[in-house]
Amino acid sequence: MKIVNEQESEILTDEKIITRKHFLSLTGKSLIGTAVSTSMVSDLLAQEKLKATSPPAKIPPAQDAPIELEAWKSDVDQASAPLPTPLAPKDRVGYAVVGLGHLALGEILPALSSCKKSKLVALVSGSPEKLEKVGKQYGISPENCYNYETYDTLKDNPEVDVIYIVLPNGLHHEYVIRGAKAGKHMLCEKPMANSSQECRDMITACNEAGVKLMIAYRIQYQPHNRTLRELIQKKEFGIPKLIETSNNQSSANPNHWRHKKSLAGGGALPDIGIYCLNTLRFILQEEPSEVFGYVYSTPGNPLFAEVEELVSWQMRFSNGLIANCATHYNVHESRQLRVLCEKGWYNIDKAYAYKGQQMQKAYAEGKIGYQDQLFISEINQFAAEMDHFSDCVLNNKKPFTAGEEGLQDHIIMEAIYESAHSGKPVKISSQPSFAELHGPEPILD
Ligand code: NDP
Repeated sequence: MKIVNEQESEILTDEKIITRKHFLSLTGKSLIGTAVSTSMVSDLLAQEKLKATSPPAKIPPAQDAPIELEAWKSDVDQASAPLPTPLAPKDRVGYAVVGLGHLALGEILPALSSCKKSKLVALVSGSPEKLEKVGKQYGISPENCYNYETYDTLKDNPEVDVIYIVLPNGLHHEYVIRGAKAGKHMLCEKPMANSSQECRDMITACNEAGVKLMIAYRIQYQPHNRTLRELIQKKEFGIPKLIETSNNQSSANPNHWRHKKSLAGGGALPDIGIYCLNTLRFILQEEPSEVFGYVYSTPGNPLFAEVEELVSWQMRFSNGLIANCATHYNVHESRQLRVLCEKGWYNIDKAYAYKGQQMQKAYAEGKIGYQDQLFISEINQFAAEMDHFSDCVLNNKKPFTAGEEGLQDHIIMEAIYESAHSGKPVKISSQPSFAELHGPEPILD
């Protein structure tokens, strides 16, 4: 580094020239009498590099208040949600969806049509046939259709604000990092990656590029789970003492990526067991202190040559709360969650499914025992999660289910596998607070 001009005080480094005027405008401070250290310069260079790749800040569009229509229902009926306030299409956040498989075609693209802040603007696929068909179906022009080789050129497309990775788990790491380097905000399907180390790399890459990273944990935007969290947190039935939960389904194709270790990372646990883990951490707003795991695969079954069939695990939380969890890849589908508290219990049938949740609670008053059905309006979980991310992009907020939340699930899953391997309980040393893992609560309007 050398100063070449007393008046304009240029600071030269190997990488770049920053003028003194520019330096002052970057720091926003008067530096009279202040020594300009090399570390200050390198901080500024890092900021400058970020600006070169980070997406330009969007001016958040003003959102109208909901239209008020003449009231006609009595308040003895269940209240309706306020009328929606969608943004004008030109103001919505543009999404490129990567990987046109079951989830993208069955849920995400249809959900984008019912979003209020998000819109589909680009597609990425290895299949020219899918790109042509899906492009036509959703009105995406051929110039906005990409393959995995042209993926990095998304950086030149100003219509794309967010890249949504819906690829096999083992590809999340590479495509999130490449997407961040293209200067786009990243929404990534669960499980975040194949390992906690990959998650750390992804968080670092997004931080370095100055882009947001959110993990698509739709269950944290789902109204039954959110109601359950509220009732537990306000201790309606006292302290939770025992939780029983499982997420199970069947599988038939040993050649599918879900049965290949390198593409799936594991079997039932990272694919569907993760919902039990993530939901419990969400409703309790607490991290388990210890886990104990058991893993099984039927010998000789080609489905489970590389990945596990069953994982059964216990998690220990504060106040003696134990959660018994299980996930299976070789039974008829079943998704259950029951939280037993001191003075009552809550149950969610079809917990973790895309829709159709039924929630009950049971308690007693004197000689009468009650079992109530809670009628909670359903929402599209995918639309809610994408609109939340769009809100974060528009208003520069940390996503509610940030990358750190995905990392924490991987740390715990690795401990479950370690316990199953050693036959001993494993302590979870990573104990971040709920606030460290989450951004502000989503506005689900
Ligand atoms: P699919 O196999 O149906 O789709 C994955 C797509 O990825 C393929 O169709 C293909 O799209 C693309 N792809 C690129 N490279 C490969 C490869 N080497 N092998 C296979 N596919 C490849 O998977 P899902 O849609 O069920 O799952 C995708 C992701 O979404 C996973 O991470 C999964 O865990 C997650 N998921 C999340 C759910 C949720 O509720 N949040 C539910 C289901 C899945 P193309 O032909 O267009 O290139």
